[in-house]
Amino acid sequence: MVLFSENIGQLLQMIDSHSKTFVLVDGNTINFCLPLFFEKTRISNFSLIEIPSGENCKSIDTVQKIWSQLVENHADRNSLLINLGGGCVSDVGGFAASCYQRGIDFINVPTTLLSMVDAAVGGKTGVDFQGLKNQIGLFSNPMAVYVDTDFLLTLPVREQKSGLAEMIKYGFISDKSFFDAQLPVSQVLVRKAIEAKGRITQSDPNEAGLRKVLNFGHTVGHAIETYLLDSQNYMLHGEAVALGIIPALRLSEKYCGLDAEWTRFYKTLYKEKFDIFNLKDLNLNALIEIMRHDKKNADGRIRFVLVSEPEKPRYDIVVEESDIIESLHYLVDFLGDESSFVK
Ligand code: NAD
Repeated sequence: MVLFSENIGQLLQMIDSHSKTFVLVDGNTINFCLPLFFEKTRISNFSLIEIPSGENCKSIDTVQKIWSQLVENHADRNSLLINLGGGCVSDVGGFAASCYQRGIDFINVPTTLLSMVDAAVGGKTGVDFQGLKNQIGLFSNPMAVYVDTDFLLTLPVREQKSGLAEMIKYGFISDKSFFDAQLPVSQVLVRKAIEAKGRITQSDPNEAGLRKVLNFGHTVGHAIETYLLDSQNYMLHGEAVALGIIPALRLSEKYCGLDAEWTRFYKTLYKEKFDIFNLKDLNLNALIEIMRHDKKNADGRIRFVLVSEPEKPRYDIVVEESDIIESLHYLVDFLGDESSFVK
């Protein structure tokens, strides 16, 4: 159930129906979002659990720390965990709650654009493991997602752009009007994006089929994000997806007959809305290896979500390695002279 700021009464009723409330925050949301959350909800009876901010918090280690604090504070089966933060907080908090005593309720209160339109809705939870993103996790739905765009007022522009990328993605897979999305986004547009995701996830909650279209741009995006995970040049999830859309479009031309005009259109849109990154010394073999390990692939063959035209996605398209390599060179050419592959 998705609640918006006008449904605050319903949120409070849900909180009240639990024996104990825990609020999970990270090192930033404790300062930037918790005061606003108090102002809006006026809740006072809760225990706070703080984890570090950023992708590194998505680990089994963090999950254990959350469980320890739940145990120390006598959380029972009727306790509630409120995940106040971006996708990292909702991913790790949702996972921790779903396993604690075989599952307690959790509510996501997304505070980044990316988590409002994507991570907090749809029921995917999990952590990274052995350098692989989201390797351990569960499909588990929050009791509710409470969306209030006021939280975005403190969000850095780089993070806002990362969320914008996931919205633009919907332009290719479900509704071309998302190509017009720009910052700062309105609550109306955020609601529209959540509804677009909801239509897809409700028809295929466990990603057996149609839901895979949400991974448009993610095969290469995820690989680049994972590749850079521990480097100084780390990339935000949405930034990687915005880049990953370029090779996906290039491959769509070959495998689905996409008009090349759409690839040109997106490259122009990308330059208007996103930043050009220097992907220096990218290791092609390492990227391909990461794609091979992607949970969405079977039998070692790499599958893509591609489009025959905007709003017409196709999933599970097996792509030849040589074509993936060509599409990566195409991406690097787009990024310019500063980007390159390891010789
Ligand atoms: P994030 O949770 O790391 O938040 C980004 C940064 O912004 C963090 O430093 C955070 O502390 C800070 N922050 C959050 N809200 C703020 C606010 N209002 N003001 C100031 N700072 C704020 O990143 P994200 O982009 O929200 O989420 C990325 C994660 O989501 C990735 O791990 C990705 O794999 C995951 N994800 C999950 C799903 C899913 O379906 N479960 C979908 C997409 C992405």
